Amino acid sequence: MEQTLRFPEGFLWGASTSSHQVEGGQNNDWSAWERLGKVAGGQTSGLACDHWNLFRSDFELAKRLGHTVHRFSIEWSRVEPAEGQWDEAAIGHYQTVARELHQRGIEPFVTLWHFTSPPWLMERGGWESPETVKLFARFARKMAVAMPDARYWMTINEANVYAILSYLIGVWPPEVTSSRRAWRVYRNLIAGHRAAALAVKHNRPDALVGSAHNVIAFEPKRPESSLDRLASRLAATWYNDHWFKQVASTSDFIGLNHYTRQWVKFESLRRPIVPEFGGPHQTDFGWDMYPTGIYRALKSAGRFGRPIYITENGLADHRDQWRQQFIRDYLLEVHRAVTDGVDVRGYLHWSLLDNFEWREGYSKRFGLIEVDFSTQQRTVRPSAEYYAAICRSNSLTVDDHA
Ligand code: BGC
Repeated sequence: MEQTLRFPEGFLWGASTSSHQVEGGQNNDWSAWERLGKVAGGQTSGLACDHWNLFRSDFELAKRLGHTVHRFSIEWSRVEPAEGQWDEAAIGHYQTVARELHQRGIEPFVTLWHFTSPPWLMERGGWESPETVKLFARFARKMAVAMPDARYWMTINEANVYAILSYLIGVWPPEVTSSRRAWRVYRNLIAGHRAAALAVKHNRPDALVGSAHNVIAFEPKRPESSLDRLASRLAATWYNDHWFKQVASTSDFIGLNHYTRQWVKFESLRRPIVPEFGGPHQTDFGWDMYPTGIYRALKSAGRFGRPIYITENGLADHRDQWRQQFIRDYLLEVHRAVTDGVDVRGYLHWSLLDNFEWREGYSKRFGLIEVDFSTQQRTVRPSAEYYAAICRSNSLTVDDHA
């Protein structure tokens, strides 16, 4: 027996991207790091998806696939290539991007900072410096005023991921390994969110402001161990909840990014929380497909009393072997959360296109649309057509025995 599950009226459906991962031709801290040969196989982001030039045809594809929302980020280094100097052509580009989305009936969701920074900012200490908070608020105000076509604004993408990978375990630029410095960066990102949120709201009273936050479903590695259980709870408190607590009062909505679960082990007092990826159903990234995780994440985020948009959820799957099932199973759990009363208002799959997956380069394929990086040819994957039917009907049809 088939069953059709309807989503709330006006629910937004679409996909997400970020500037560095799709635009091409960057001049920021990441592109400098790539040139040092730090990315898998010595790759550089280079032309990426050439989305800077091909955004119109990419948005045509999104429209044909029934999308009603699209998330993209503004590259700070393009808009303010030197401190206090604004590049009007770059600002004009992003104005056009928002307008072109609207013309296709797609709501723009703008992220102001998605991991990459202008080199001049990094020379001044990047997010380690409290000055960055003010500079970020100024950039936020500039863009919010310049882009009246964009109503939804996200300040910071995944402060927790950035602080950990770039400043705690040092596998992303600037490769720092210091808990003290990671904590400082994270605190400044919180302050940056608040300052930017106020700046946007003050200058654009019609705007709705949030951030995008990565949430993981943590589980004790050895369920019988009370120390592992404690470590797993602490991981959830610090990694998942702390950001929401800090930003809820300056947010109109929550942007939730969720992918997987991790197993947490207590190792020693020096290393009390040791998380591990892996699990029974692994994507190309080795991340476990665990649909219940999104239900848990939504229930938990629901406690902060703001409407929720799922601003990222997806998988690396170059053969498109699992994506359809992943979408179905995760959306079943989203629907379960909605039925339980969680105020979820949209779902944005990561990602619209295959793109530059940071340290892993082009090897991890997250796109609903496949990209041939040598020709820039786009091919819509079968799972994207499956997802399109959900977007168009605002419902999910499942076999009861699925
Ligand atoms: C990031 C994206 C990234 C995705 C998949 C998220 O942490 O916001 O930029 O591509 O996960 O790893």
